[in-house]
Amino acid sequence: MESWDCSGWIGVDVCSQVCSCLSSLKGGGYLQILEQFQEMASLSAWGSVKHAVTSLDDVMSEQLAMDLQKKEDELARATGGWEPVGGACAAEEPLTAAEQSDVSSDLLLAQLMQDQLDRESDTLLQIEERKANGGSKVSVSYRNYRLSHSYPVLEPDEEEEDYPDDYDASRDWDSFESREREDPQIPRCGYTMHKEKMVTKHDGRIAGRKNACKVMDLPPSVCTGDGGSFDMEINNGVLNGLRQHARNVAQRRHRVNDKEDRSTSGALDRHTRLMILKMVNSGVLEDVNGAISTGKEATVFHAWGGSMENEAEDIRQVEIPDECAIKVFKTTLNEFKTREKYIKSDIRFKDKISKQNPRKMVHLWAEKEMCNLKRLTNAGIRCPLPLVLKQHVLLMSFIGDRQRPAPKLKDVLLSEKQWRQAYRQVLEMTQTMYEKCHLVHADLSEYNILYHDGACWFIDVSQSVEPFHPEALTFLYRDCVNITNFFSGKGVATLSPEELFSHISGLPLTDQSDISLQLAELEKSEQPRRRGQHRAQEAALFLEGDDDGVDIPVATS
Ligand code: ADP
Ligand code: MN
Repeated sequence: MESWDCSGWIGVDVCSQVCSCLSSLKGGGYLQILEQFQEMASLSAWGSVKHAVTSLDDVMSEQLAMDLQKKEDELARATGGWEPVGGACAAEEPLTAAEQSDVSSDLLLAQLMQDQLDRESDTLLQIEERKANGGSKVSVSYRNYRLSHSYPVLEPDEEEEDYPDDYDASRDWDSFESREREDPQIPRCGYTMHKEKMVTKHDGRIAGRKNACKVMDLPPSVCTGDGGSFDMEINNGVLNGLRQHARNVAQRRHRVNDKEDRSTSGALDRHTRLMILKMVNSGVLEDVNGAISTGKEATVFHAWGGSMENEAEDIRQVEIPDECAIKVFKTTLNEFKTREKYIKSDIRFKDKISKQNPRKMVHLWAEKEMCNLKRLTNAGIRCPLPLVLKQHVLLMSFIGDRQRPAPKLKDVLLSEKQWRQAYRQVLEMTQTMYEKCHLVHADLSEYNILYHDGACWFIDVSQSVEPFHPEALTFLYRDCVNITNFFSGKGVATLSPEELFSHISGLPLTDQSDISLQLAELEKSEQPRRRGQHRAQEAALFLEGDDDGVDIPVATS
């Protein structure tokens, strides 16, 4: 086969396949086929070929490329034209051995260029490294980030490094290694003879060193220091203590993550996200947008409203507005502690208070806001319209315009007249709230009043209590102080807090004597009257149900 080269007209692969195929044939058959093949090769669909065809292999050959290059170079030199490749850079920089070699191959050229690039990048890295280390004795090496491997980067600092006089190059850097060599290996039987002494696996020194080794395997959260630089021995008690600590740290980290997932900083926990997602999937909401506010107790989101048509018939009549606000109450316990007093004495919730499940208490808090908003809405007070309640998530109408929430009263700029009007509105709304809704806001201030469409809107009524709450009058007085301070600061001629209190509640209060004493007296003396009122209310609630007027769907899942 060696005498006949077919690689010129068929690809080398095909040729070798044919060759191997032919060589498997025996005797005359082999030669016959060979002759036929040669005949076929000389035939062409376009007739016989007159002159020799340059094979593909030849075209691809580097030898040919070199010849052509040489011819071009000679021509250029003869005509005094350009420098051959490599000539220009030779003038700038002495060539390395690799560079001096033949550069006519594209591959070699590419490799050289890549090398050049890598070296430049390494030089920059070296500068970075020096900058990072500065004068520090402990230096950080960027060696692993170097790109160039064929050209070692000179490290003058490394070469000049001072070694102590007693430097022992043969010493192990890690004392664990030397100790392992030093200590006898204890076989399975648990003891061995070492330096004419019996050494057992309970040998304090060996066990201590082994423990030290194990300490190095503790998770990175446990700072062990450089245990390899000295002969560390650790007894079992300490090792166990460290292991327990490592476990605790890991567990605590888990718990913190879990807690973060359950509540806090704006991000919703999975359960809540799922609940909101369900509202979107069922079509109640079109889309949920960013957070309007992230407070201590709740996060409020803006959402585009959908429709209730997929919901059960009994709740379908609620009309979802174009823009909604989703108030998500936080479920952390510490926040809840401060709310307890507002809910404890509220008869509406007294049977629902759960000592066992704090999460359920948060649901109650959301339910309370919904009930209170409903009362306000029924009494014609401007406030968000409650729409859907689901556990600790309350969907209500959005006060604002095109995703822009109405500003809080503390942030608006109004004329003198507008401030006077706003004061009057707040005064009337608080009075209506007390008389018609039987509620004291209990957190009324410029922070919980929004200014929208030239009017004041009350929000955040989750802590609002009924007047029979043992501290209701104290809460009412506090509201009066906040309102008076704010509006008088805006230049409005206001009533005094005591006058405002009396105006709203119809109860006497003067600034002549101790206010807290007077409030305590009032709360005591007013108690029977308010209790009577409360009993009457209870009866009314029983007869009519608290859900008269707007029907609020309460999702059970
Ligand atoms: P928090 O308990 O965090 O004070 P709020 O009910 O006061 O909860 O809501 C926090 C903020 O979110 C409000 O100050 C207001 O800016 C905004 N906000 C709440 N409800 C609505 C709503 N329905 N429409 C527009 N903005 C709202
Ligand atoms: Mn608020």
